[in-house]
Amino acid sequence: MDFKQFQLDPRLMQGVQKAGYEKATPIQEAAIPAALRGRDIIGTAQTGTGKTAAFVLPILNKLISGGQRNVPRALIVTPTRELAEQIHDVIKVLSAGTKLKSVTIYGGVGANPQVQALRNGAEIIVACPGRLLDLIAQGHAKMANIELLVLDEADRMFDMGFLPDVRRIVKAVPEKRQTMMFSATFPADVELLAKQALKEPQKIAMGISKPAHTVAHALYPVPQHLKSALLLELLKRTDTNTVLVFTRT
Ligand code: AMP
Repeated sequence: MDFKQFQLDPRLMQGVQKAGYEKATPIQEAAIPAALRGRDIIGTAQTGTGKTAAFVLPILNKLISGGQRNVPRALIVTPTRELAEQIHDVIKVLSAGTKLKSVTIYGGVGANPQVQALRNGAEIIVACPGRLLDLIAQGHAKMANIELLVLDEADRMFDMGFLPDVRRIVKAVPEKRQTMMFSATFPADVELLAKQALKEPQKIAMGISKPAHTVAHALYPVPQHLKSALLLELLKRTDTNTVLVFTRT
């Protein structure tokens, strides 16, 4: 599908061109129209599917279509600073034709530049949970005007023990908002978070557990006592120099 069919603001098409995207990826095709209509979205998508642009483009489109400037209106919560910077880079490219400003917020570095960027009127915050909560508590990050919330890689945030912080953040933003959540897997705690944070979300599942086309799967039902012998036999017949074997213990 061509990006023109989304009827995005022409200023965003400049960014799409700059990014070098020609055709939308499947997740973009599914998520962008629903997000542009204002739907909450729950997406099963891994990194590499184009999911960042799938939530960034609808956010930018909404922000430039009207409303206040120079206050935080979109919040993207993500587990690691590397991901925060990657998302920030995508925002910078795609928003090149707009005057929107974004800031990354995470711990392990000085807070002053982050506070300064907030004072300068960043409309988009890309944040890791801990430092964001600090800056909210100190009154530097204002949540009162947040109208778009993205919870990215929710399962990783759960693995890293961030879900209590994420719940606090969800409580700190206005209830009237659009929420998009992405996760590669849905353990029970993430399901619960989705129930609490999203309203009648559109479900979008992409490429989950689909191996790369170069990967072959085979299943050998075998009694316990023959497993080692089978493995040795398979290795003898496998024409390769290096093999990685995963076992339970
Ligand atoms: P992501 O899944 O968001 O981490 O994106 C994975 C990679 O795909 C990034 O390098 C993006 O720049 C790139 N990408 C995203 N959307 C498109 C598209 N429509 N066409 C080509 N590349 C894309």
